[in-house]
Amino acid sequence: MTSAKHLAAPVPPGGTIGILGGGQLGRMLAMAAARLGLKAHIYSDSDDAPAFQVCDRLTIARYDDRVALATFADCCDAVTYEFENVPSEAAAILSEHKPTNPNARALAVAQDRLVEKSFIRDLGLSTAPFANVESADAARGAFATLGGGPAVLKTRRMGYDGKGQAIVRHGDDAAAAFERFNRPCILEGFVEFSFEASVIGARASDGSFAAYDPPKNIHEHHILKRSIVPAPLSPAQVDAAKTIAKHIADALDYVGVLGVELFVAKDGSLLVNEFAPRVHNSGHWTLEACLVSQFEQHIRCVAGWPLGDAARHSDAVMENIIGAEAADWQKLAAGGGALHLYGKSEIREGRKMGHITKLISRRAP
Ligand code: AMP
Repeated sequence: MTSAKHLAAPVPPGGTIGILGGGQLGRMLAMAAARLGLKAHIYSDSDDAPAFQVCDRLTIARYDDRVALATFADCCDAVTYEFENVPSEAAAILSEHKPTNPNARALAVAQDRLVEKSFIRDLGLSTAPFANVESADAARGAFATLGGGPAVLKTRRMGYDGKGQAIVRHGDDAAAAFERFNRPCILEGFVEFSFEASVIGARASDGSFAAYDPPKNIHEHHILKRSIVPAPLSPAQVDAAKTIAKHIADALDYVGVLGVELFVAKDGSLLVNEFAPRVHNSGHWTLEACLVSQFEQHIRCVAGWPLGDAARHSDAVMENIIGAEAADWQKLAAGGGALHLYGKSEIREGRKMGHITKLISRRAP
């Protein structure tokens, strides 16, 4: 078995960052790399990936194509991902060829909700109560163990934007939902939170850490609709949120940006829902409201550069443009704010087509 490669020196301007995945996150990462004089090589299994429109080189191949993965890595100086469900085999091939971050452990933890929640709990951080569920009977048992209140059954793997999730109110509901999913799940107690927030952290290859101010996040139909920064949190809660992100990043020896989703409980305490080992939709406002965005910060980390300034100079609201809303692009373009359209060829229901960020007020320097 060969071991993962590490950066011997920072990737200099003119070097190439390989990005696995070609969606909007890959696109905004490629644009941030360009600002630093770095080139982006995008690898996607789709021939019209939005990131292809803004990159220096591209590879179209499946994520299990060992030869294409190795050839891609060989063309790059450092490699990263824009999505968390990277097959572990692909991650192993890439990291044998070139320094690849976030590391394999961070991916493995984030890909399985049971492993992730256990990891977070073992760090001493708070989560919703949860239990492993591997059968319909176990689902019934777990429902009783969690106290018999409403709960959420979630598939352990491959769930996002509310997919692979069901709210259950009885043991029999939990068993029926398990039978529908028919895959390993976890059952979580339903948290009566006062609102949802998130914190975007960045850890550089030398272990230095920075975090952005946490936004309040509003979801519609299980999809993030709006992020508002600052969130209505006290300075102590903001510090606590940033410390949570640092704790997770340090424990994983993480290099790159990570997004940690939080529930703000009625008593003001912060519960970790999950973390994404990548740039995060609730951090898009950093493009306009901070000197150095989450995208540039991630590129800096994977290229072995120092962290940039994550301070927020403005209050901001970021709103996603979802599905058919993108057809109104002329109205959106005339409505003020910074409009981002992702260049997706087809509008589909629930698809993230773009976002718009409005700055509310500038903070005193
Ligand atoms: P997730 O896929 O875990 O990010 O969940 C998607 C959304 O479902 C979250 O942003 C919450 O709005 C809601 N949700 C997930 N888990 C819970 C829970 N244990 N209690 C209450 N709401 C939840």
